[in-house]
Amino acid sequence: MLPGQGTETSSRRIEAAHDCNFVGMPPKYVYLDYAASAPLDPEVLEVMHPYLEAVGNPASTHAAGRFLRTALEEARQTIADLLGAAPGEIIFTSGGTEADNHALRSAVETFSLSTILYNPTEHHAVLHTIEDLAQQSKVRAIPIAIDPYGRIDLNHLETLLRKHSGVLVSIMYANNEIGTLQPVSEIAALCQQYGALYHCDTVQVMGLGWVRVDEWPVDFLAASAHKFYGPKGVGFLYRRRPIKSFITGGAQERGQRAGTENVASIAGMAFALKKAYQQKDLYLKHLSTLKAHALMLLQALLPEARINGVPTLEGSHPGILNFYLPLEKADDLLLIHLDLAGVCASGTSACSSGSGHPSHVLQAIGLSPEEAVRAVRLSWGWGSEKAHLEVAIQTLRQSLLSPTA
Ligand code: PLP
Repeated sequence: MLPGQGTETSSRRIEAAHDCNFVGMPPKYVYLDYAASAPLDPEVLEVMHPYLEAVGNPASTHAAGRFLRTALEEARQTIADLLGAAPGEIIFTSGGTEADNHALRSAVETFSLSTILYNPTEHHAVLHTIEDLAQQSKVRAIPIAIDPYGRIDLNHLETLLRKHSGVLVSIMYANNEIGTLQPVSEIAALCQQYGALYHCDTVQVMGLGWVRVDEWPVDFLAASAHKFYGPKGVGFLYRRRPIKSFITGGAQERGQRAGTENVASIAGMAFALKKAYQQKDLYLKHLSTLKAHALMLLQALLPEARINGVPTLEGSHPGILNFYLPLEKADDLLLIHLDLAGVCASGTSACSSGSGHPSHVLQAIGLSPEEAVRAVRLSWGWGSEKAHLEVAIQTLRQSLLSPTA
C-alpha cells in the first residue's frame, strides 16, 4: 500500500505532518513553498538580535559605529571565505532582485557592453531588467535557444558568442519554477574563451553549498538570504571586477552600493550561509530523498502528471518539483484546493503568482498558456517530511477525483 492511501499508520503520519507549524501560518498547515521563501532559522534570528537593537550607523567612526562596522566586515569575510572570493568582491544588497539589477545595469554601464545573451527562463528580476535596458537602446538583447527541459543549447550560445562582441551572458544556475540546472561550468568556460562577461543568478542554489568562485570563472552572481533560512530583504552580489553603483548616494560598500547597510540582516545572512555550507551534504541527502519520494508518489497517485523540467534527480534542483496535469478539472483552482486542505504550494514563481499571467518559464519550454495554468510547483526544505508530500499529492488526487471539483 502506498503511503497516504489510508492505512492507520499513514493517516497518523499525515496528521502529524500537519502539526509542523510556522509563525504567521494558520495552525495545521503544510508548507511546500521553500523556493518562494524558506522559514527563518531561529539560530539566525538569535545572531541578528543584538544588531537589531544596536544604536549607531556602521559608517560612523565612534564606538557605536565600529560595533556595527565590525559585524558587517565579519559577515563579508565569512561569505567571501565560503565562496572562495575576496571580501571586497561582495556587495550587500536588499535581495536577489537588486543584486540581479545591479550586476546587469552596472556591467553594461561600466564596461560599455552592447549585447546581452540571455536565457529566456530567467527570473523576472533578470528578464525585466534586460527588457528595460533594451527598451532604452542601451543593449541588444538576444535569447539563447533552450531544449524542452529548459537547458541552454551550448552550440547556440557558442554561435552567438562567435558573432557578437561587447557581450554579457545571463544564465541562472537553477530555475526557480522548474528546478532545471544549467551547465554553468561549460557556460563560464565558453564566456571566458570568447571574452564575454558572465552573470549567474544563483539565488536558488546558494543554500546548497555548491558555489565556489575560485573554481568557477563567473564574473557576477546574485544571492538572496531568504532562500537559505536567512531573513527576507537582504542578499548580495559577487563581482569579480569593480563596477559602478547603480544607486546614487553615500560611499557605502566601497562606493558600489549607496545606502546604510542592513547590518542585522547581513549578519544573519552570513551565519545562515555558513550553516548551509557546513550542512550541505546532509541537506542534499534530505532534499534528494524527498524528491525521490515525490517522484514515486506522483507516478503512483497521479500517473497523468507530466513533469516540467528535467524529470530525474540528476540535472534538477533536489528541492523543486513542477508538474502539470493534462486534465480538464486541473485548472488554476488546484492551488485553492491545496490551500483549503492546508498545503502551501505555488503554480508559478512567487513573484508571478497573482499576476494572472501564465508562467513565461513554462511557455518557454513549450506549454500553452492553458497548460501552464495547470501546473503545480512543490518545493521543500529542512522542515519538510515525506508525509507533507503525501498530503499534497493525495489532495490533488482527491480534488481531481471528486465530482464537485
Ligand atoms: N532570482 C531567482 C532565481 C529567484 O528565485 C528570486 C526569488 O524568488 C529572485 C531572483 C529574487 O530574489 P528576492 O526575492 O530576494 O528579490
